[in-house]
Amino acid sequence: MFLKLRALFARQTKLMPFTSGGSSQGEKILQKDDSESSTNFIQNIVEEDLKTQKFEGRVHTRFPPEPNGYLHIGHAKSICLNFGLAAQYSGKCNLRFDDTNPSKEEEEYVKAIMEDVRWLGFDWDDRLYFSSEYFDQLYEYAVRLIQKGNAYVDALSPQQIREYRGTLTQSGRNSPHRDRSVEENLDLFERMRAGDFAEGERVLRAKIDMASGNLNLRDPVLYRVLKVAHHRTGDKWCIYPMYDFTHGQSDSLEQITHSICTLEFEDHRPLYDWFLKELDIYRPQQIEFARLNLNYTILSKRKLLQLVQEKHVSGWDDPRMPTLSGMRRRGYPPEAIRDFCDRIGVAKSNSTVDFALLEYCVREDLNKTSSRVMAVIRPLKVVIENYPEDQVEELTAENNPGDPDAGFRMMPFSRVLYIEQDDFMEDPPKKFFRLALGREVRLKHAYIIKCERVIKNENTGEVVELRCTYDPESKSGSSMDGRKVKGTLHWLSVDHAQPAEVRLYNHLFLNENPADEKEYPDLGAGVNPDSLEIVKNGFIEPFIKNAVGGDRFQFLRLGYFCVDNKNSPPGAPVFNRTVTLRDTWAKIAKK
Ligand code: ATP
Ligand code: MG
Repeated sequence: MFLKLRALFARQTKLMPFTSGGSSQGEKILQKDDSESSTNFIQNIVEEDLKTQKFEGRVHTRFPPEPNGYLHIGHAKSICLNFGLAAQYSGKCNLRFDDTNPSKEEEEYVKAIMEDVRWLGFDWDDRLYFSSEYFDQLYEYAVRLIQKGNAYVDALSPQQIREYRGTLTQSGRNSPHRDRSVEENLDLFERMRAGDFAEGERVLRAKIDMASGNLNLRDPVLYRVLKVAHHRTGDKWCIYPMYDFTHGQSDSLEQITHSICTLEFEDHRPLYDWFLKELDIYRPQQIEFARLNLNYTILSKRKLLQLVQEKHVSGWDDPRMPTLSGMRRRGYPPEAIRDFCDRIGVAKSNSTVDFALLEYCVREDLNKTSSRVMAVIRPLKVVIENYPEDQVEELTAENNPGDPDAGFRMMPFSRVLYIEQDDFMEDPPKKFFRLALGREVRLKHAYIIKCERVIKNENTGEVVELRCTYDPESKSGSSMDGRKVKGTLHWLSVDHAQPAEVRLYNHLFLNENPADEKEYPDLGAGVNPDSLEIVKNGFIEPFIKNAVGGDRFQFLRLGYFCVDNKNSPPGAPVFNRTVTLRDTWAKIAKK
C-alpha cells in the first residue's frame, strides 16, 4: 500500500499538455451549483433573531483563537464564518485571544495570528480583545458565585477529582469539601490568589450536580493555581480561570450576539448558559457547527506543534503545513481560501472534505491571475543545427491567454535551447506527442523543430543532447504558421536562461486520515518522505529573475509557482510549486 501510493505521488510531477484553462473534467463535480443560493442553518438563526429583534437587531460575532499555535485552514473556516456573518448582516466581529493558559501561550503566536487574519482579508478595526483583560472581572464573577453558594474551593488532588467525577454510566461523588461555608470559601479563594497554595493543592469549582448526565456539569473546575507568568499580565496572577469559565463571560462582556463554535462544545453549552444565568449577566447564544476536516491533513495545533518540534517540517510556515502561513508561503491566494470556505458550507454534522477541492479553488484563482512564463526544471540541451550561430530573436509571448489586458513579453530564442528531459523519448509509445527521433514538435511561441540526432554519454548511455533542425517558415504568429504538429513544448534559450531553485511538494501524509490515532499512533511515522523535492538546477526566463517573495506565476505545463518569501535573496528567487496544473492525483486515486 505504502509503496503503491509513493509511486503515485512520484507520477504527480508529470508534464501537462497545453490548455488554456486549469481545470479538468473530474473537477467539475466539485463546482458549486450556482442555482443554489440557500442560506445555511446559522444564517437562518441569525435572520430569525433579526426578525424577532432578539438582540435589538444586532449581529456581533467574534473569532476567539487561543494563542498556542499558528492558524490553520480549519481556523480559516471559522474566521470566514464569523467575519462573513458580521459583514453580511452589517454587524461587527471581534478578534479575541482566549489567553487563559499561560503555560502554552506566546506573544509570537499572537502576532502571527493577527497577520494571518489580515492576510485572509478580514479586519477587526479597533475590536482587538484578550480574555486576560477580563481577569479582574472574572475573579469578581467567581467571588459572586461563591457568595451565592454556587462555588467552592476544593482540596482534592487532580487525580482524585477525576476519580470522583464518575463516568458516562456512573454518577460522580461529592467532594468532602463541597459544603464549606461561604466565608471559608472566600478566604481560601483569596489565599489561592495570594499564592498560599502550590499547583494542584486547591481549585475553585462550581457547585452544580455531581450526578448530572452531562459530565461538564459535575462541579467543573473554574480556577486552578498556575505559578507561571502570563505573556500579557506578567506575574500579576498565580491563579488562572479555565476556558469554560472564561469564554462565555468574555462573550457576554463584549455583548456578542451569536457565539459560534465547533461541535465539541455542544456538551458545554449547558455550562455556558449556567454561568451566565447564575451571574445574571447579558446572555449571547452559543451555536455549534461542524469543524473542517481535510483528508491527508492534520488540523490540530497540538499535532502541528509536534511536527515542528520533531522537525518533520521546517517550521509552522513550511509550505507543506496546512497553516495559513504555510499556505501563503506555498502561494495559495487568500481569495482561493475564502472561496474554499464558501464552497464547503456550514453543517451540523462532521464530515471530511477532499483536499482536491482546496486545490481546485487555488487553481481557479491562479488560472485567472497568474502570468504564464517558461521554466525548465530538468533541462535537456537542444542544438538547432540550421539556426545561425550568433543570432538571437526576440519572440512575442502572451502573458495570460485568458486575460488580454495582461499583455505580452519578449522571449529570446537562439541556437542552443533547453527543453524538459521528459519531453523527449528515444523509443516512444504511439501516443507520445512530444519529441522523438525523426519527429516534429512546436516550441511554444517559436518554431517547429525536428529531432535529427541524439547524443549520449558514452559511459552511461544517458541522453545528453539533441541535434535538431527548425523550419524557418513556421514561426508562431507568422502567416505561415498554419502547419499543425501534435505536440507543443516549453523551452528556454541556454544563453539567456537564469538558474533557479525549484521546490516541489506532495501531501505531507501518505495516509488519508493521519489524525486517526488508533490506526496511526506515531504521527511522525506517517510523514511522506517524498513530500518535498528540491530541484537545484532549474532554469527560468530571464525577466523573472527579479521576482520577489510572494510573486506568483504559472510555469507552462509544470504548475503554479510562488516565490518563496523566506529564502529568496534579491536576484535569486526560489520557487515553491503551489499546485500542479490539473488534479492528476485525484484521477489516479480514483483508479
Ligand atoms: P486546534 O484543535 O487546532 O487546537 P482549537 O479549537 O483548539 O483548534 P482555537 O484557537 O481555540 O483552536 O480555535 C479558535 C476558533 O477556531 C474556535 O472557535 C474553534 O472552534 C475554531 N476552529 C478550530 N479548528 C477548527 C476547524 N478544524 N474547523 C472549524 N473551526 C475550527
Ligand atoms: Mg480551543
